[in-house]
Formats: sequence, structure tokens, C-alpha cells
Amino acid sequence: MRVEFRKITEAGLPINIEQDELLLSGNVFKKSSKLFLFEGKLEGFLRHNCDICLSEIKINIDEDVKIWIGDEELPKLDEELPNGIEFFKGYADFKEVIISEIEAIKSDYFYCEKCQNNKGE
Ligand SMILES: [Zn+2]
Repeated sequence: MRVEFRKITEAGLPINIEQDELLLSGNVFKKSSKLFLFEGKLEGFLRHNCDICLSEIKINIDEDVKIWIGDEELPKLDEELPNGIEFFKGYADFKEVIISEIEAIKSDYFYCEKCQNNKGE
């Protein structure tokens, strides 16, 4: 889902995009001529592997998402708002946004129920 930067206004533009079993929905707002903010939610299921036994697990995802989006340049962001992505062709590609969110989640550790229980012993 590509959105031209010139079509994003201060009032916001609704975004809905699915990737696998996840849905990213919310609004993208213009904050300055080159800076935009997406605010919304990522919901659904993520299929991933247990970090110990590699068996497939289904992770329930329900999280608030706040991503700064730069048209070519992303100003140095506040440390409290480190989440940013830049695009260089005059449009923001929300497919890339949802994929980068999914990759960020996958970089955490996840354990299946069995390994989770064993870890606790
Ligand atoms: Zn496991």
C-alpha cells in the first residue's frame, strides 16, 4: 500500500494493511513538510518458532504502533521516539512499514508453552 506524501494531511489519512495474519490499522499525519507520523495498532497472529526447540508457535499480537516516517530525511528523533523509517520516492510504502514492525517483533525471544514451563523450573 503506497501513499504519496503530498496526499497526507495534518488531519490524517486512514491506513489499513494486512500482512500474513496481521493487520496494521491507524492514521498517518503530516507533522511538517518532510515528517509524518503513523499512529495505530498491529493486531492478529504471528507464526514464529520457539527459540529453544524451534517448534512453530502462534503469537497473539495486539500492540500500539507509533512510527515516524520521513520523506527522504528523518530528523534526529527524540530518544523517546526512536522508531522511524525513511522513503525516497515521494511515497510511503506501508507494506514496508508493517514488515519492519513484524521483523522488530521477531527479534525478541519467544518460547513455546513447553519450553516456557521448563525454563521456570
Ligand atoms: Zn519450545
